[in-house]
Amino acid sequence: MCGIVGYIGTKDAYPILIKGLHRLEYRGYDSAGVSLINQGGDLVVYKAKGKVSALEQSVSDKDISGTIGIAHTRWATHGEPNATNAHPHYSQSHALSLVHNGIIENYKTLRVELEKNGIQFAGETDTEVLVQLIEYMQVTHQCDTVTAVHLALKNVVGAYAIAVLDKRNPNQLICARKGSPLIIGIGKGNDKAKPGESEFFLGSDATPIIEFTDKVIYLQDEEIAVLNRNGKHAITNLDSIKQTPQMHVLQMNLDELEKGGYPHFMLKEIYEQPNAIRTCMRGRIDPTNKDIILSGIRDNKEHFMRARRIIICACGTSWHSALIGKYFIEEAAHIPVEVEYASEFRYRNPVLDTSDVVIAISQSGETADTLAAIQLAKQHGCFVYGVCNVIGSSIPRNTDSGTYIHVGPEIGVASTKAFTGQLITLILFGLALAKEKNTLDEVLFHQLVDDLMLIPEKMQQTLEKTKGIEQFAKAFTYCKNFIYLGRGYNYPVALEGALKLKEISYIHAEGYPAAEMKHGPIALIDEEMPVVVIATKRGMLYDKIVSNIQEIKSRRGKIISVVTEGDTAVKSMSDYCIEIPDTRDSYAPLLAVIPLQVLSYYIAIAKGRNVDQPRNLAKSVTVE
Ligand code: GLU
Repeated sequence: MCGIVGYIGTKDAYPILIKGLHRLEYRGYDSAGVSLINQGGDLVVYKAKGKVSALEQSVSDKDISGTIGIAHTRWATHGEPNATNAHPHYSQSHALSLVHNGIIENYKTLRVELEKNGIQFAGETDTEVLVQLIEYMQVTHQCDTVTAVHLALKNVVGAYAIAVLDKRNPNQLICARKGSPLIIGIGKGNDKAKPGESEFFLGSDATPIIEFTDKVIYLQDEEIAVLNRNGKHAITNLDSIKQTPQMHVLQMNLDELEKGGYPHFMLKEIYEQPNAIRTCMRGRIDPTNKDIILSGIRDNKEHFMRARRIIICACGTSWHSALIGKYFIEEAAHIPVEVEYASEFRYRNPVLDTSDVVIAISQSGETADTLAAIQLAKQHGCFVYGVCNVIGSSIPRNTDSGTYIHVGPEIGVASTKAFTGQLITLILFGLALAKEKNTLDEVLFHQLVDDLMLIPEKMQQTLEKTKGIEQFAKAFTYCKNFIYLGRGYNYPVALEGALKLKEISYIHAEGYPAAEMKHGPIALIDEEMPVVVIATKRGMLYDKIVSNIQEIKSRRGKIISVVTEGDTAVKSMSDYCIEIPDTRDSYAPLLAVIPLQVLSYYIAIAKGRNVDQPRNLAKSVTVE
């Protein structure tokens, strides 16, 4: 979950590493550190608790020279977040330093073994075991560092992306991965084969690299790369067999990684939604023929035609989009859909067979539990379809087929545009499948396509209507609890709204299907309890939810409602009301979620929270 940056070349490494850490800070930020082989040939390590800015302050009087270095922002799994446990970690002799993303599961056994052999540890992390083990292998096998890395990794159980510096060899940077992403950026000078201009960049994702080069190699599981100052690189697997890497060109725009005038990435990403959704739909809707073109389905027709059910595996916000996807796919394509938390699915014995299609959803494409769910599904012979945002990430590389949501990089830790992008993708999926299976009559199909094409414009109108939220959000900063209610398609929206509030304001919030209130939660209602109700106006559930609101109002709950333009019944019962444009029930979540994102943003701001980097959270959950 952390961020790794590395550099070897002719430029000063420190500014490149720090800039990279800032770009990666959204991935974890309880401590940060950097290691350099400086001009004097010393291997230095500087670390600080807290944000990257704390690290910068702490090195103000230090020697930060050197043209090779590694750096890290940590999301602690083992050991308190403090300066000692921050990465990089030294080996006992201080000849090696290492950064790591992931978890070394057998670290305890390894540590006991190493301690028996006289190795002393400075901190409590699982990571430190790895750097000590590499040095131990080097000493006991009398081998070079690259061989020692091979030997050490063969003894490790767990997930890792690592980068290693060796004081005795300032001309090489060693890195490796298993289960945690690592990307190598090939410097622009490397092609010219002029050693003086060669350089390599390293990143746990592409964000620290894109500024310098768009040519990258995605390191594969159990691969070890040695990056040399002369521009040469060598990649082998754990058995030292040479691997031939594939070069990729990054499709990312640097502007997408900047705040673009917004105070926070989250707000920028909320406002990007209309355009992000347009990009997501581009090329997938044929407006002339009112058709859906989803190559992932078209090219794998036989799997979808014989599928008896679909199982969607996801975590967090993606799990909420999966619930809405279930409702839509079942309604449109008449196929049973089950939604599973990937973290639960992977550890039970689900009944699966070769006629099942499994959809895996993850913004980053690196979610550890979702990747494990994919492996399980594949072992059972299921056809696996990925829905993710980050191009070239592990999910698209490990699935049989899939669709990118194409909403651009999402930096804010609280997911916003990825949620709506996932919804659009699942709707496109449902429509494409319905077409193949002929489960919708043509008129309805065309109406669904027409209405979908109107969504970006309606999202824009919805954003206009959220303008008043900033003002009234302040009234809720004192609250300790919130309840979110919705029915039908809007029930998962209630879950998502509650999650957004929890994540960034640290206010406890629960989402419920509105009718479930009577079965317990209504006991919580009093004049102190704000209840956010999503009550868009179509279908019979509207009248039902009006009654549910009445029940809350009678118990003096404060009502904040999201309603369809022109609504009177719910509006008259609400303390605060946000109107959104009219659309069909199944598309309402695409609009209704926006006021909830904005509400959580402004409550968090009023409470002085860091919305882009909420405590304890990290953007992509690459550990289980
Ligand atoms: N497990 C390691 C630690 O707790 C790495 C965590 C991370 O990925 O940031 O230090």
